[in-house]
Amino acid sequence: MRKLNEERVVIVGGGIAGSIVAKSLQFHAHVILIDPKEYFEITWASLRSMVEPSFAERTLINHRQYFTKGDLVTSSAVNVTETEVLTADGQKIAYDYLVIATGHADPVPKIRSERIHQYKEENEKIKSSRSILIVGGGPTGVELAGEIAVDFPDKKVTLVHKGPRLLEFIGSKAADKTLRWLKSKNVEVKLNQAVNLNSDTDGHNKIYRTSAGDTIEADCHFLCTGKPFGSSWLKESVLKNDLDVRGMIKVDENLRVRGRNNIFAIGDITNIPEIKQGFLAQKQAEVVAKNLRMMIEGGKECWRETYKPHSVLAIVSLGRYDAVAQLPFLTISGRIPGYIKSGDLFVGRTRKQMGLSPHIVET
Ligand SMILES: Cc1cc2nc3c(=O)[nH]c(=O)nc-3n(C[C@H](O)[C@H](O)[C@H](O)COP(=O)(O)OP(=O)(O)OC[C@H]3O[C@@H](n4cnc5c(N)ncnc54)[C@H](O)[C@@H]3O)c2cc1C
Repeated sequence: MRKLNEERVVIVGGGIAGSIVAKSLQFHAHVILIDPKEYFEITWASLRSMVEPSFAERTLINHRQYFTKGDLVTSSAVNVTETEVLTADGQKIAYDYLVIATGHADPVPKIRSERIHQYKEENEKIKSSRSILIVGGGPTGVELAGEIAVDFPDKKVTLVHKGPRLLEFIGSKAADKTLRWLKSKNVEVKLNQAVNLNSDTDGHNKIYRTSAGDTIEADCHFLCTGKPFGSSWLKESVLKNDLDVRGMIKVDENLRVRGRNNIFAIGDITNIPEIKQGFLAQKQAEVVAKNLRMMIEGGKECWRETYKPHSVLAIVSLGRYDAVAQLPFLTISGRIPGYIKSGDLFVGRTRKQMGLSPHIVET
């Protein structure tokens, strides 16, 4: 009989998906978490931290606060073989089971205090500007415009999006309601236009030009276009044929990389046909953690849990009080979805799921 904790489970990526698996399995196997950051970030709350940097005290959680037992490797994975993960700092980490949870690539600071400092700088940039240009009308651009419009109503905010409507990942009714809300807060929205970020200076002001020939005066800009998937490290690896054309990992109903018994993928990095959401990444993590526990403890194949794609459900916050919600057959906006998401942005709830106090910051 193998001892339970002899199995090595390597998890690559410490976002919500990888962190939940690390937390769940740490007392059942030898778990090694690889992440370039020493902390887990509640990413969907990051825009609030730009207008209120102290908010980040609760959204940046050192991995060691919830992952007390296993090994933490603070480096990026750069390659993988049939038996090992190779890291940027030259380590070769052997695995019996591998969980890939590298979501989106975002080059943020490695150390928590530096990330908080970055939010303070972004906040200063907002406070010291009279006019702000936001580039990108997906969830990040819309939520940032909402945060600034509510907390700094005197700022002139312009949002430029290259597509025909905002929030293209959900329905057009949600986009219309969002556009109306932004206009009611004096945010100017320009659709079907791209911006040249090489601005000219006109005396004191920066002038940006769009593909439609418009000029936008703004003291600063924030680029809120989508981030690439965190799968470039797999492109020359044994898993190169397991990526689809977008760079997402092809998985089966057990969330295993297709055709592999001991390699799983979860969260935003998978090709599961559903909206990429943190609460779904958590559900996938729970399925994999459960299956891995059964496999490690000698369970039979037929006991394995499967994961089914979920129908559309998304809430986009519009500042601190309002939101627009896309439900399977309904779109609603205003204070009710705002009450669900926009006050705390699910931060207290997520901290509780990680076994931490929703309010008190442990150091
Ligand atoms: C503006 C906005 C609002 C959102 N609102 C919501 C919401 O209300 N509700 C909701 O459920 N979801 C929301 N989401 C979506 C949610 O943020 C994501 O679905 C979720 O963060 C995905 O988690 P993940 O763990 O798969 O990936 P990520 O959060 O992207 O984490 C990936 C991790 O992998 C690490 N990594 C990357 N490359 C490597 C590498 N080579 N080696 C090692 N580690 C690596 C990264 O450092 C990171 O820690 C929102 C997203 C945005 C942008």
